[in-house]
Amino acid sequence: MPELPEVEHVVRALRPIVTGRRILAAELNLKRTAPELSRAAFGRQLKNLTITGVGRRGKYILFELESGRLLTTHLRMTGKFVSLTTDEVLPPYAHVVFYLDDERRLVFCDMRQFGRMRLIRDARTLPKELTTLAPEPLSDDFTEEYFLKTLARSRRSLKQLLLDQTRVLGLGNIYAVEALFLARVNPLKPANRLSKPRARKLFHAIRQILQEAIDAGSTLQINLTDGNSSYFSTTERFWRVYEREGEPCLNCGTRIKRVVHGGRSTYYCPRCQRS
Ligand SMILES: [Zn+2]
Repeated sequence: MPELPEVEHVVRALRPIVTGRRILAAELNLKRTAPELSRAAFGRQLKNLTITGVGRRGKYILFELESGRLLTTHLRMTGKFVSLTTDEVLPPYAHVVFYLDDERRLVFCDMRQFGRMRLIRDARTLPKELTTLAPEPLSDDFTEEYFLKTLARSRRSLKQLLLDQTRVLGLGNIYAVEALFLARVNPLKPANRLSKPRARKLFHAIRQILQEAIDAGSTLQINLTDGNSSYFSTTERFWRVYEREGEPCLNCGTRIKRVVHGGRSTYYCPRCQRS
């Protein structure tokens, strides 16, 4: 599943391809991808709109459209965009097709069908799923002060709190365990019991992990014109603790432990992350 750094790369890859392009026609082939609109309404409401930019909020991709409209896309498990010429064959699971005014098509493919699109009529009144998200983790809005307050207010485990996108944005399971390892704090510790110095360490670890992931991704460059390639590389990345159960800790050599917590695998070093 793509996490925030991967979605950021999709946005960067989309920008040069769609910015300034006019949508000549939009075809919704799978109703559940945009459940709020009928196929006819989807086509009618997007037809002839120019895409003025592409942004991101959390893992939502935001296509900014003329007249203040917004098309949001969440990739979920397997959603991805490909850019094709008009005569290339559509890849499998092509659930949405945008015909652009440069004789190319932007295609949304999604094997597992969990990806979602939503058309928002006025970008100034965003739906709750966007307004309740925590501040962007790499922006100035995500401050130490905010993070310390958020931790102090919660008795949940650090691991669970870090996964709650309304509290801390951008960490999925992989990046959460990596950040906790980097800060050397125990994932199961109640959030409100973490000391301030260690909370500050965790704050910086979160940013470091996300920035590293974005930087690592920029060396591979997502190619939207190759419909067959999977564009995420998370499985090839090297992780400090994630999926390293039984292997030696990079700091101290102790074997990495795995526990299932809140239904998810959590990896940590029982020595470095004792408390
Ligand atoms: Zn260790």
